[in-house]
Amino acid sequence: ATLPYDDSNIFARILRGELPCKKVYEDDHALAFHDINPQAPLHILVIPKGAYVSWDDFSERGSDTEIAGFVRAVGQVARDNGLVVPGYRLLANVGPDSHQEVPHLHVHLFAGGPLGPMLT
Ligand code: 5GP
Repeated sequence: ATLPYDDSNIFARILRGELPCKKVYEDDHALAFHDINPQAPLHILVIPKGAYVSWDDFSERGSDTEIAGFVRAVGQVARDNGLVVPGYRLLANVGPDSHQEVPHLHVHLFAGGPLGPMLT
């Protein structure tokens, strides 16, 4: 089981408008913004608007509508930025072994040029 959701996490504060972000996409179910410490020429984070700690939490408790909306939003961000043909990488860290730092589900989107090999 996942830890309870902590409303004070940094992405919750971004969703509430308490902290700024460089927004690239928003709809009813998702918000996407540039990572503050980019690990690729283009590094975007896509988060669901609901209060979910991780992929595990979301896949268990998220409604079908929220899950569909979030998955479509990730695809839309890639299409909006012309990434489908050159390609991109998606990654979601879950839990301590993965070094998940922010306890609100986020999918990393890496793109903008040839990427390095996947790390483990
Ligand atoms: P994790 O390690 O949890 O998968 O990834 C967390 C990501 O959030 C990191 O890539 C980190 O650079 C990014 N990040 C942390 N704090 C902030 C912030 O305040 N604003 C933005 N835009 N990104 C952040």
